[in-house]
Amino acid sequence: MKLEEYRGVWTLGEQRDGRIHTVSYELLAWGRSLADKLGVELATVILGHNLADQVQELIYRGADKVYVVDHPALAHFSVDPYARVLTALVREYRPEIFIASATTTGRTIMPVLAAKLRTGLTADCTGLDVDVESRQLLQTRPAIGGNVMATIITPNHRPAMATVRPKSRRPLPRDASRKGEIIFKRFDEKMFESRTRRLGFIRDETAESPVQDADVVVAGGKGLKDGRNFDMLFELAELLGGAVGASRMAVDMGWIPYSHQIGLSGKTVTPRLYLAIGISGAVQHLAGMSSSEVIVAINKDPDANIFKVSDFGIIGDLFEIVPLLIKRLREIKGKEGEGK
Ligand SMILES: Cc1cc2nc3c(=O)[nH]c(=O)nc-3n(C[C@H](O)[C@H](O)[C@H](O)COP(=O)(O)OP(=O)(O)OC[C@H]3O[C@@H](n4cnc5c(N)ncnc54)[C@H](O)[C@@H]3O)c2cc1C
Repeated sequence: MKLEEYRGVWTLGEQRDGRIHTVSYELLAWGRSLADKLGVELATVILGHNLADQVQELIYRGADKVYVVDHPALAHFSVDPYARVLTALVREYRPEIFIASATTTGRTIMPVLAAKLRTGLTADCTGLDVDVESRQLLQTRPAIGGNVMATIITPNHRPAMATVRPKSRRPLPRDASRKGEIIFKRFDEKMFESRTRRLGFIRDETAESPVQDADVVVAGGKGLKDGRNFDMLFELAELLGGAVGASRMAVDMGWIPYSHQIGLSGKTVTPRLYLAIGISGAVQHLAGMSSSEVIVAINKDPDANIFKVSDFGIIGDLFEIVPLLIKRLREIKGKEGEGK
């Protein structure tokens, strides 16, 4: 394998029920920074059916090129045709990096693809970067039971492949002036055959939590001392139009359901504002929230690790500070209400 024959960064676009999924745009944000550092093109590949009127959006969100494969057999994710088509595309165009989201689709198809292409794959990364000189993809993820963050490279094989956690990056702002190329690829009917047949789809409602889509997350930890004290976080979240998150400690204490847990073994979030209240900032917690746009921490310990990642730190007793915040926000809301 001649590594220099592989050039460019690829992302795997995803669609659900014929609509492009937002993870595709998050991945383009990752891909864009890698491609710009390497000085190469960023392409995204998307498989589905009747997507033609939507694929331009991928260019607006950062892609230079979009490869589209449109066929009824690709309308819903199916391993056999997806693996065949993606393998053929990678063999033809030879990207040096190929990343996907660590969704069910990404986690299923990327290992198959990596095995077919005889290359390496790092699953479930929380961070991606490149070493420009060696052109290595630096794939960071928690390792050894989450106790260290390991950076993994794929020194001898291409493409370097990785899946990255959904919500680990915000999509780039939509830029309708961006120009790019859309290429519709056709394949022989045999490529679309499958050993499986989709009978239906049943959504797992219990896995859903509004915390992942919220613009503001108010998260509480062991410093809250009692489950009932989460009530004030729910009130604060409501005043800010956000959702409530929690550290694993708070979940393990039975103070709040697991669906609210943020971190390595919980959800990854990238809200505009993350409030960490009575949370120490263990590496496993940071893995799920450190890409938030603005982080505000409230902690009585000035040396708490959470202050290392926070933009604003309030050193003090949360039982004094949170009620003050609630009071002030209520006043502001009241004034807004009067003004109407
Ligand atoms: C494999 C593995 C996976 C893990 N996954 C996760 C995960 O997904 N998410 C996660 O969060 N953790 C995870 N953990 C656990 C993690 O290591 C920490 O134990 C956990 O994050 C600590 O939670 P905490 O910050 O709420 O509690 P603590 O570390 O006990 O921190 C409590 C904080 O509250 C502050 N405090 C106390 N009283 C007050 C007060 N009155 N006012 C202000 N501040 C106060 C203290 O100063 C302290 O900093 C994982 C661990 C392992 C090994």
